[in-house]
Amino acid sequence: MTAANGEREPYVGRLAPSPTGALHLGNVRTFMIAYLRARTVGGRLLFRMEDLDHPRDKPGAADAARRDLDWLGFDWDAEFVQSERRARYRAAIDDLHARGLAYPCVCTRRDVEHAQSAPHEGEQLFYPGTCRGRFADWDAAARVRPQPCWRFRTPDEAVVSFTDGCAGACTQDVARTLGDFPLARDRDGAGYTLAATLDDLAMGVTEVVRGDDLLAATPAQILLRRALAGARAAPPIRFFHVPLVVGPDGKRLAKRHGDTRIAAYRAAGVSAETIIGRLAATCGWGDGAPVRLAELVARGPFAAIPKERVVVKGASL
Ligand code: GLU
Repeated sequence: MTAANGEREPYVGRLAPSPTGALHLGNVRTFMIAYLRARTVGGRLLFRMEDLDHPRDKPGAADAARRDLDWLGFDWDAEFVQSERRARYRAAIDDLHARGLAYPCVCTRRDVEHAQSAPHEGEQLFYPGTCRGRFADWDAAARVRPQPCWRFRTPDEAVVSFTDGCAGACTQDVARTLGDFPLARDRDGAGYTLAATLDDLAMGVTEVVRGDDLLAATPAQILLRRALAGARAAPPIRFFHVPLVVGPDGKRLAKRHGDTRIAAYRAAGVSAETIIGRLAATCGWGDGAPVRLAELVARGPFAAIPKERVVVKGASL
């Protein structure tokens, strides 16, 4: 990204694991790409633990992820934990609410599904804005239903276009496909969209590198980013969505495809260099021979990665 004065903006990237399970070949491949995109241009890299998803978060998974990444040779310049940042998310919602850009909603999931004309599998849930302008504040909503949620007031014209570094040109009419999307499930909570978007803005992230399962979540994040920045105008941000690693059945890598957890390889005596070398080869970087992450940094920056999903046939490397 070149700034108006011709200077290249410093790159700021992030690794943002959720502690919902052990790191495996799939998420480590995405982290490796994120790491190399930052380090091969001399950029900064942040580590952000996204631990707000309580029912799904697993005890010990956050520490295990740090340990695995450290063993593989990753490093970062600063570390953040989302559960320690709740006050910021709440302040952001209050601010959006004060500006008429967020509102409490008492619709249940069933109400929303009912309002939806023809839901297709995998489609995001459309919310038509039934509770818009209905309640003066949270307490008024909570008197109608004990557990309201916060929603973003999507502008009536909200066609978002961006060019993904991997997927290319993307466009979504957020107003017509998603409508007013949720920001938080309770008064002081923060959902993934709000927390990640606010953090990317607050932490000065210039490029988001993550799995392509989040490509569809991006237009809403771009809209929310603009709203959060308000009059300050959001600095540009780029997105690079990495095709997922899948099993032979085409489904996202999971236990049934074999034990591809980093901890399992370590326990079996496989070296970090072997794992990194094999993952790098799936990107077209090298012949699969063992290599340290730091050596790959010295060989970059790298050309584009393959646009196809990577198929892992089993746990053996
Ligand atoms: N924490 C999310 C995950 O592990 C990634 C979020 C993001 O990169 O925006 O799926």
